[in-house]
Amino acid sequence: MIKVDAKRCPQNHRCPAIKQCQFEAITQKGNGLPEINQEKCQLCLTCVDFCPMQAIKNV
Ligand code: SF4
Repeated sequence: MIKVDAKRCPQNHRCPAIKQCQFEAITQKGNGLPEINQEKCQLCLTCVDFCPMQAIKNV
């Protein structure tokens, strides 16, 4: 399951990983903590590799 670590994500910008997810499984309200739609997520790990803060993890 993909989770976003609130301790690593600074929550002060639009998440660049949103555009990388080809399944449109990542949403974000404002600059808040991105949310993963677990039903849409295909566990491709693109976002895990992409996040420069290593805030997105497969746990
Ligand atoms: S693992 Fe892949 S499908 Fe799941 S949220 Fe990340 S980029 Fe999207």
